[in-house]
Amino acid sequence: MIPHTAIPLQACTWQEELSRAVRDPRELFDLLELDTSTLLSSLTAHKGFKLMVPRPYLAKIQKGNINDPLLAQVLPKGAELVETTGYSADPLEEASANPAPGLIHKYYGRVLLIVSPACAVHCRYCFRRHFSYQDNQPGRKQWQQALDYIATDSSISEVIFSGGDPLAANDNHLHWLTTQIAAIAHVKRLRVHTRFPVVIPARINSDCLQWLTETRLKTVVVLHVNHTNELGDDTHRAVMQLKAAGVDVLNQAVLLKGINDDPEALISLSEKLFATGILPYYLHVLDTVQGAAHFAVGRQKIDQLQEHLLARLPGYLVPKLVLEEPGAASKVPL
Ligand SMILES: *Cc1c(COP(=O)(O)O)cnc(C)c1O
Ligand code: SF4
Repeated sequence: MIPHTAIPLQACTWQEELSRAVRDPRELFDLLELDTSTLLSSLTAHKGFKLMVPRPYLAKIQKGNINDPLLAQVLPKGAELVETTGYSADPLEEASANPAPGLIHKYYGRVLLIVSPACAVHCRYCFRRHFSYQDNQPGRKQWQQALDYIATDSSISEVIFSGGDPLAANDNHLHWLTTQIAAIAHVKRLRVHTRFPVVIPARINSDCLQWLTETRLKTVVVLHVNHTNELGDDTHRAVMQLKAAGVDVLNQAVLLKGINDDPEALISLSEKLFATGILPYYLHVLDTVQGAAHFAVGRQKIDQLQEHLLARLPGYLVPKLVLEEPGAASKVPL
């Protein structure tokens, strides 16, 4: 017999998942049964850049393991407070490629829109941890400036929804923006850079699939997965829905010390991505952002890893190893 107090088994909506994400380091330590000897330094680092871990991602982390490769991406650590020479707040000098509010135009033919300043997860190595989101949260009127900019430059064939995480915006707004962009004849492709299908897979719902499929634009979703353990059945289902809707799905990863700087970890990541319906696209060398130096992998190690991948994987499963250089015409291959 089912007791009448039983709550029907209903999955949370993505908005509910966002609001119930873990934001208190004490709760994180508690839920994951972690040794509290480093809690104090976590609390200090959290003050500078807040902890945020949605529960579907938390479920993929091994309890009691302070070195878990997923935990290491989200856990505030004392090492973030170390000032490192050569690391800066705006390593990519994006502030100088910002011709309209919320729009970054660095590369030929592509513009990036900061559609939402919010993220579904806070990654400790993120180069956007110091970005001036206050100055880049356009309302509709200001979006018109970005749209006019795109309409005026006929070399722009691709618009990238980025952030933060663009899927943190609501579907009404995304629908509106997509429609406005599709009305500009020279734009051919819409790309969405998101971590939602990995951290809150419920984000890929029917409203989201609607604006992605209704448009005349060719659509590409680029995920951000750094480790095999991030790819569970929930993410697989979300990716299958995107692919069934005609969306191409790619991945970009960041090379991170102690997380994936190991040949087997990277080989296994590529294999699992493909099994999940995702093609590896980029493997980024860490940006030199202040507070992330402890994630950096040395150049010699990077070269060795690259050799391993080339020797072991089919060409289409080897991500392009790139770094970003301010002023360069594209990501720079190593
Ligand atoms: C990475 C990036 C792009 C996209 O570059 P691709 O090589 O096409 O993936 C576009 N604009 C900005 C500002 C970027 O950082
Ligand atoms: S922008 Fe991407 S990498 Fe940075 S915190 Fe948000 S989800 Fe993580």
